[in-house]
Amino acid sequence: MTTHNYFSSCVAQYDPQSLPVSAAQAIVRQWVCPVTAVERVPLHDALDRVLAADVVSPINVPAHDNSAMDGYAFNGTALDTQQTTVELHIAGKALAGHPFGRAIAAGECVRVMTGALMPEGCDTVVPQELATRDGDILRFATDALKSGANRRLAGEDLAQGRPALREGRVLRASDLGLLASLGIGEVSVRRRLRVAFFSTGDELRSLGEPLEPGCVYDSNRHTLFAMLRRMNIDALDLGVVRDQPAALEAALRSAAANADVVLTSGGVSVGEADFTQQMLRTFGDVAFWSLAMRPGRPLAFGRVWSGERPGAGQPALFFGLPGNPVAVMVTFYQIVRPALLLMSGATLHEPAVFSATSAQPIRKRAGRTEFQRGMAVRNAGGQWQVTPTGSQSSGVLSSMSDANCFIVLAHEQADIDAGDTVDIMLFDGLV
Ligand code: AMP
Ligand code: MG
Repeated sequence: MTTHNYFSSCVAQYDPQSLPVSAAQAIVRQWVCPVTAVERVPLHDALDRVLAADVVSPINVPAHDNSAMDGYAFNGTALDTQQTTVELHIAGKALAGHPFGRAIAAGECVRVMTGALMPEGCDTVVPQELATRDGDILRFATDALKSGANRRLAGEDLAQGRPALREGRVLRASDLGLLASLGIGEVSVRRRLRVAFFSTGDELRSLGEPLEPGCVYDSNRHTLFAMLRRMNIDALDLGVVRDQPAALEAALRSAAANADVVLTSGGVSVGEADFTQQMLRTFGDVAFWSLAMRPGRPLAFGRVWSGERPGAGQPALFFGLPGNPVAVMVTFYQIVRPALLLMSGATLHEPAVFSATSAQPIRKRAGRTEFQRGMAVRNAGGQWQVTPTGSQSSGVLSSMSDANCFIVLAHEQADIDAGDTVDIMLFDGLV
């Protein structure tokens, strides 16, 4: 065994003619390593980047006990009385950013606004709507609240010395706010993953070119661009490559020289013009799979190199996606996306899958996982109900555009009747 076909031999234990989706996902995950380079970026550039190290809270948030309500702060021992009404003397006030300044004496309370520092000696706040005020005398029912009510404790949001955000986190809007609340204006993130992609096919025309008979516009490059952009990946568009071995080899080598991952679409099945197979077998370390999946049956996965022979020059992970536009999107989301997230250093989360009732019968053959495109809506009874969006042919991209979810029909599942429960995976944040 030479080193360059190590990959192909490692996956030989599976039947490449009918590889279950879960097995393909597991093999891919086994093969990816996260990028190691780290950079410091200012907070606003950190959105959608992957945190390279835990962020430990340097302070308590909030820094001090403070009031959660507009009302009156007092010592909760005042509630330990047989009287039905508590009566306190209003000694002054504290606003957010303007503390009261001294400890309260017995029988006193302080007018406080939300966020105001709890005056010394106070641990409870009576909301203003539960109290009556008569000059500087405050009265409220003893049973209106419990001692300690309506007080936010120092460190209850984030405790000093504890991890506030974990390594591998893909930073979201709330995280940027959270970091700012800690006084942190710069974070360490992994470098962005670089992905090169191109389309293959003599029939493909790029935007702006005339469409001769038998030709189609290349749409895959644009969905790939958009899906990569959504993941904040540095995407390198290498255009359309003709179905010629020499052109493919040149494109793959240049892609490997310039990116961590190479994605192609088309040419991975066994048609006469499908040179990707033939070429990659000699030039890369690539396994060809027929996934037990619809759409997205043919898929190639492995490594390619920038040098003149396998193992020479820069390596890159390689995904050869099918040509059909819906198959490209489905294989991207099910197989490629988790791999790219792991390579970016992100912690993977299980995709959120919900149950819905099928509004109509769905034909399904057992023995493959299907990802139909559906529109899920809540019916009058509050139940989620899903309907497939028209033709489920893998070339019909409008079935993706019209959908808001995948209807995930499991490997063993057979035909579905109207009213049966099915799994759905919402597109939100995905497509
Ligand atoms: P292939 O796997 O190369 O045989 O392609 C399968 C089908 O997908 C053919 O009908 C192609 O014309 C179509 N196809 C391949 N690549 C693209 C692309 N980049 N954009 C749109 N359709 C494509
Ligand atoms: Mg083709």
